Amino acid sequence: MIIEKDLEIFEVVAVHRDTGRPQFAKVKAPSVVDAEDFVADMQPDWLVIRDNSDLEKPCNHCEKSFPVDELRPCAVEPDFHFCDDCADKLRA
Ligand SMILES: [Zn+2]
Repeated sequence: MIIEKDLEIFEVVAVHRDTGRPQFAKVKAPSVVDAEDFVADMQPDWLVIRDNSDLEKPCNHCEKSFPVDELRPCAVEPDFHFCDDCADKLRA
């Protein structure tokens, strides 16, 4: 059971899938993850921006930051992730 006094107000930031416009919602929830899940469920057109560490990670080769979905896991060391450029270079 969730007790009202344990709820906090979180500002959830999202980007509209069609327009690319930033969207903001204030949600009362027990944690920021719950607030983000709530907004993601209620607004399917919004791309909820979660903790930045989830969005970008450094390439383990060139050390530049890339969106996580652009990084490829290393075939030999799955904990290592490379950007497209480095993945191509390393494979060559
Ligand atoms: Zn790289």
